[in-house]
Amino acid sequence: MPSSLKLEPQPPELFSPWRTDARVALQIDAREFAREVVMPIADELDPQKGEMPRSLIEQMAERGWFGITIPSEHGGMGLGVFEYCLVSEELARAWLSVGSILARGQGLGTQTIDDARRLQLMRKSAQGKWIGSIALSEPTAGSDLAGVETRAVREGDEWVLTGTKRWAGFALAADFIEVLARTRDPEPGESRSAGLEPFLVLKQPGSFPAGMTGHAIDKIGYHGFLTWHLELDGVRVPESDRLTGLYGDQGADADSGGFASVQRGLNIARVHTAARAVGVARAAVEDTWAYLQEREQFGQPIGEFQALRFALADMAAEVAQARAFWQQVAHLLDLGEGAESESAQVKLLATEMAVRVTNQAMQLHGGNGYTTERRVERYWRDARLTTIFEGTSEIQRRIISDRMLPKA
Ligand SMILES: Cc1cc2nc3c(=O)[nH]c(=O)nc-3n(C[C@H](O)[C@H](O)[C@H](O)COP(=O)(O)OP(=O)(O)OC[C@H]3O[C@@H](n4cnc5c(N)ncnc54)[C@H](O)[C@@H]3O)c2cc1C
Repeated sequence: MPSSLKLEPQPPELFSPWRTDARVALQIDAREFAREVVMPIADELDPQKGEMPRSLIEQMAERGWFGITIPSEHGGMGLGVFEYCLVSEELARAWLSVGSILARGQGLGTQTIDDARRLQLMRKSAQGKWIGSIALSEPTAGSDLAGVETRAVREGDEWVLTGTKRWAGFALAADFIEVLARTRDPEPGESRSAGLEPFLVLKQPGSFPAGMTGHAIDKIGYHGFLTWHLELDGVRVPESDRLTGLYGDQGADADSGGFASVQRGLNIARVHTAARAVGVARAAVEDTWAYLQEREQFGQPIGEFQALRFALADMAAEVAQARAFWQQVAHLLDLGEGAESESAQVKLLATEMAVRVTNQAMQLHGGNGYTTERRVERYWRDARLTTIFEGTSEIQRRIISDRMLPKA
């Protein structure tokens, strides 16, 4: 596949006051890993709609990246949301799904009631040996997660889960699946999300547990992850595997009482999605930058046409703006600020930007852009998802406007 990688701008791209030598070193390491290790795998597996190999995950685990945000006393790197997003932007520059898999560590699926077990799982998570899938969405509950219908019924010391889940990324390959289920109906006057609780469904990678079946959904992009439709028919979960919180990915109804504890996780997920979108858009800019020098028409490189130069300039400026914004919001989250509206704003702006920039990149590649011979079509397919998952653009606008005006 034609490569533009020698033209990539070199780090640092960290703006003061957030730039430190340690962050620059982490960025360079992630950038080189993305280029040398991830990109060839993406080029091979994306056309096959393949799933990233466990060996890739193991290499990321060796670098400690599944525990970036886990405190060092629990085996993690003890760093913040900033570093998590920094590495994720670099990985997503090569393949969006590889930027995403980091979110399946970072302490996901460790919020057990028993303290000793929680710390043990945290250590496994930091080591990349506890990688999960999140099954929140259902065929009839996407943006409106309070509409989840999967039932959890108590039988002695166990819960029995029955229902249908849709869109559970990485579910077959995962070590566990976090399933959001309804333990009771809300009382009159209670939030619609009352009674929704997350359960830890343990499993072996490569198979589903007793009572669960599934099939992979045929997506147009975001390969590297298989995304699953799951049927739960009497999946048994011990009471000790009912979780106390969910580090989930959606947040449509995030301000309702039952979801209050997950707010920070949702904000982190939003800024993480923004950083991933910046990575994909940056890939589109860099490939276009190269193509404008490579492709000749009318006896000159097309990069000499001012319309195309200006288009490239607009793309680069949009990416830089979105990057500066995610760095600002990640910094706020690391300071412990709520930053709920800012997290929704950066998710909205960065993902909409990625759609525009990858679309323009395809235009500037002409016919070659509309082939599988160039990576730009992958960036375009992957960017398109970013305005849909982790809470759609409309849901982000709802969160932002609901904090500006009385709720509609
Ligand atoms: C590839 C992929 C991977 C995913 N991975 C996961 C995963 O791992 N785990 C998981 O649980 N889920 C996952 N999801 C689900 C994802 O989060 C949902 O698709 C998303 O939240 C939107 O829900 P929906 O698809 O049901 O759309 P809907 O909620 O049906 O929305 C349809 C349209 O209506 C709009 N809309 C809905 N409500 C409002 C409102 N109040 N105001 C204005 N507009 C509104 C939406 O913005 C959208 O444009 C994934 C989805 C995809 C496509």
